[in-house]
Amino acid sequence: MTISLIGRTIGESVTLKLNETAAILRAKGDPVIHLGGGEPKGRAPIDAILGAAALLSSGEVRYTPADGIPALKKAIIRYTEEFYGRSPAPENVMASGGAKQAIMVCLQAILNPQEEVVFPAPYWVSYPEMVKLIGGVPVPVVPEDGSFIPRIEDIEQVLGPYTRAVIINSPNNPSGAVYPDSFIAEIVELCERRGLYLIMDDIYHRLIFNGRQPVNCYKYAKDHTESSKLVVINGVSKQYAMTGFRIGWAVANRQLIEVMTNIQSHQTSGPSALLQHAAVGAINGIQSSVANLRMTLENNRNVLVERLRSFAGVKIEEPGGTFYSFPDFSAYSKDSVKLSDLLLEKVQVVTVPGAEFGREGHLRISFCGSIKDITEGIERMKWVLDPDAPNELYIGDRKLVRDWS
Ligand code: PMP
Ligand code: GLU
Repeated sequence: MTISLIGRTIGESVTLKLNETAAILRAKGDPVIHLGGGEPKGRAPIDAILGAAALLSSGEVRYTPADGIPALKKAIIRYTEEFYGRSPAPENVMASGGAKQAIMVCLQAILNPQEEVVFPAPYWVSYPEMVKLIGGVPVPVVPEDGSFIPRIEDIEQVLGPYTRAVIINSPNNPSGAVYPDSFIAEIVELCERRGLYLIMDDIYHRLIFNGRQPVNCYKYAKDHTESSKLVVINGVSKQYAMTGFRIGWAVANRQLIEVMTNIQSHQTSGPSALLQHAAVGAINGIQSSVANLRMTLENNRNVLVERLRSFAGVKIEEPGGTFYSFPDFSAYSKDSVKLSDLLLEKVQVVTVPGAEFGREGHLRISFCGSIKDITEGIERMKWVLDPDAPNELYIGDRKLVRDWS
């Protein structure tokens, strides 16, 4: 079988793969605890369900415009007004099959083969693969001091004649770090000065803790015309616990949105009509579920951080947003893949190896599950790793006794 050069360079999405692994183990009856997940566990908002149900029961579920139904575009425009103080025209908005597709189509519209896309590490697993899928070159920027907060000097240093775009994701997957406003101001300024596209992946912007408000990148932009190269990505997956609905969007200049829409029209057509109606319901409906989710996540985060701080060898920075933490386990093992495998094999706890996000020695541990899963999962991890943990561990009625010899 002949596989294309690009096809051969693309790895699987490890985050999605681990969801599958956890589900398979659970179906087999294994007492697996999934601390590797990337989706809130709550139900979708009722307004979303009603939105989709109304269309479904009409029985008339048709193609939609390639860039999304007018009602969804209107909802996205209102959302942008509320959170960014900007009023894009419908021609500045494209709905997609998830934020993932919005980013992918955007990259297809702006990137030539061999051109570079810069993003800070640690980064979301899909950025390098998306860039490679178009024949582009991913350029992760690793801060020397191991910080989760990028430095503008480090980014500026890697920019060259082939750099086409920068991707920024704050609150960040996998670190949970919220980049300071001063950095957002600097990166907006830098990209404007160098004529680069700046893709702001704001998918976690409302899942932010300690009373902080989502950052508005437009506030720092000088160019508010149709030549602006600022692209804002968002979606319903995380904030409304609607990952399986697959609706995301991009807001950008008209020319770019037109090209992105042309590409999408051949690739997938418009996103599913049913799910666009669900997204309209979520965005326009009662917003209390977002506040509840944020509160639950903040509480989960506090519990997780406290438990992880009790490990002798773990260094953890408190996540300021998202539902991910990215502690440093290098005192136990420098090989995050091996460590993650060990935890799965010994105590059936799923974590994601830091290597997948461009940072060895770390594990991504999610706090989007229940408090019970978090406390039990961490207790099991402690039993495997930490000499201070009790020698005995119960998983259900199975007793494990540790042998340090
Ligand atoms: N960006 C980041 C940083 C993410 O973690 C995700 C999660 N899948 C996405 C984009 C894509 O989200 P979705 O396609 O579900 O809208
Ligand atoms: N973004 C989530 C994660 O990082 C969901 C899985 C994916 O799309 O990669 O786990």
